[in-house]
Amino acid sequence: MLKIGLTGGIGSGKSTAADIFSSLGVTIIDADLIAHQLTLSGNECFSKIIHEFGNSFITSDGELDRKKMAETVFSDLSKKSALENILHPIVRQRILHEIALTPDSPYIVLSIPLLFESNFTDLVDRIIVIDADDDIRIRRTSQRDGRSEAQIQRIMDNQVDRQTRLEQANDILENNGELEDLRASIYNLHKKYLNMTS
Ligand code: ATP
Repeated sequence: MLKIGLTGGIGSGKSTAADIFSSLGVTIIDADLIAHQLTLSGNECFSKIIHEFGNSFITSDGELDRKKMAETVFSDLSKKSALENILHPIVRQRILHEIALTPDSPYIVLSIPLLFESNFTDLVDRIIVIDADDDIRIRRTSQRDGRSEAQIQRIMDNQVDRQTRLEQANDILENNGELEDLRASIYNLHKKYLNMTS
């Protein structure tokens, strides 16, 4: 079973692309979803994070204060490392567990936003980078969740640069156009991967 990593910067269209692969019957393993589940109250990483960061990171409804956490780690590199040291080993284990549980199929897609930053590249056989121009990514992200351009720019500055990402890609999905264009490109990749594995 071929393991294809799907990655790209903020707002490049990873979730949209993963949904399109899923609609073609491809199993998706989503690292962001895994990290989110692990950090829900009572779950494996929650208590470790609160132990490290303190009770002020718990919201009034008992969950992790994700907004405060994002502000903290994006403005203090040592806090960012502390969070990653808790999360990354457990996310890695969980990804391996989900791969092991996946019924056999020609290929699966692992959506891993921080594939390069987290050194998870050894988990995959090939890499798709989804890419769009910075201004388009900023516009789509702020339309999606109301974040300001400055907030989005700060996240971009914490991710590997576009060139580094593109250099490591086996396949590039350019997502500056319409959704229909993205669907067509993904369909072509789907056929390519089925051919590679047949
Ligand atoms: P993040 O890094 O924040 O998790 P992402 O890479 O998963 O983001 P998406 O959420 O898939 O990106 O896309 C960002 C926004 O842009 C979404 O609202 C999505 O619906 C929209 N979008 C993605 N691709 C296109 C497109 N080709 N045309 C129009 N809108 C698009």
